[in-house]
Amino acid sequence: MTEPRTLSVLGATGSVGASTLDLVRRQSGAWRIVALTAHSNAIELARLAHEFSAEIAVVADEARLPELREALAGTGVEAAGGPAALVEAAARGADVTVAAIVGCAGLAPTMAAIEQGGVIALANKEALVSAGEVMTAAVARHGATLLPVDSEHNAIFQCLQGNDAQHVHWITLTASGGPFRDWSWEQLTAATPAQAIKHPNWDMGAKISVDSATMFNKGLELIEAHHLFPVGLDRLRIIVHPQSIVHSMVEYRDGSTLAQLGPSDMRVPIASALAWPQRMDTPCEPLDLAAIGELTFRSTDEERFPATRLAREAAQEGGGIPAVLNAANEVAVAAFLDGQISFTRIAAQVEHVLNAYVPPPPGCLSDVLAVDSEARARARQLMETA
Ligand code: NDP
Repeated sequence: MTEPRTLSVLGATGSVGASTLDLVRRQSGAWRIVALTAHSNAIELARLAHEFSAEIAVVADEARLPELREALAGTGVEAAGGPAALVEAAARGADVTVAAIVGCAGLAPTMAAIEQGGVIALANKEALVSAGEVMTAAVARHGATLLPVDSEHNAIFQCLQGNDAQHVHWITLTASGGPFRDWSWEQLTAATPAQAIKHPNWDMGAKISVDSATMFNKGLELIEAHHLFPVGLDRLRIIVHPQSIVHSMVEYRDGSTLAQLGPSDMRVPIASALAWPQRMDTPCEPLDLAAIGELTFRSTDEERFPATRLAREAAQEGGGIPAVLNAANEVAVAAFLDGQISFTRIAAQVEHVLNAYVPPPPGCLSDVLAVDSEARARARQLMETA
């Protein structure tokens, strides 16, 4: 019998975390769990840590540690709390670490996992967007393997297998366009958080659902693709594909376009990363293309959805600018979800912060975190004075 592989899930209580653990549950004996982490959902974290006999469970919000300790009493699972404990747990290393924390909060633990080598299955796009070259250099330095879990990047990764990137003509990221893709500007200004988080095709956490509605998700993904697949920004493009069946495409110089298709279920790309370079079963229904009937495509509209333009410009500028874009977006999305700003203010506010703050290029993790923190402070200040 083969030894189980070790696995840590950073952000175990979230949407990607749940999909990952669903697959693990179905592969009895294949995995030994090192660390499971959450922000504040101590009860769910304790339940999962107990079920999967994790070595350690960590809540980033230290105030929840007593609750976690109590829930894990007598189970043999270690409990810890606070950002430093989160990094320490990630630094225990595992054969595979699924980075599924939302936002730049996931950057330091993801970097700690990278420093141990091993496979990093990356869902936490904000970490790569913010750290860019700092993260890709650490991956190279520590001999880690970065596997994209984001469905688009996982699709591109699959379409590139066995091919030489120098023959790539275009990489095309598909975008569902989100729940507001057909809304007028007037309707967008009145969009509510409840409407924004109701994605037509995917069941995801609140932040990425809002990002999907503003198209910042695709903007962040453009920057993510720029780092994962260095074919040049001018070879990356975005197309709206409302059915979310074609997850992305690679067109080669000879005119061949390879695409990856699949159901809108994150367990497919997560399984691809967990099993890589092999394949594993998932419980997902196979595609029924005859029932789907039509696959349609159209251009993006950067007048109504300026996020992809802002992201492309940030990627062109490089250095610390993508970290500023990400931080300003995180603050704006939280404010929108909290009812403080309107939907269309999100992009306006991000643009404002980008125009006001040009940091020096970060050279290490602490530089990136400093840029992130300063950009957040400026974004909050802007809201207070607006
Ligand atoms: P969720 O909001 O569902 O889950 C986020 C997870 O991160 C939870 O475990 C949460 O803990 C934890 N967390 C939140 N804030 C912090 C913090 N400050 N410190 C430590 N942990 C924290 O997010 P998703 O699963 O939807 O998304 C996770 C990442 O994956 C995002 O970067 C997203 O862009 C990316 N992604 C998601 C997809 C999806 O289908 N959901 C698809 C592709 C990419 P708690 O439960 O305690 O709050």
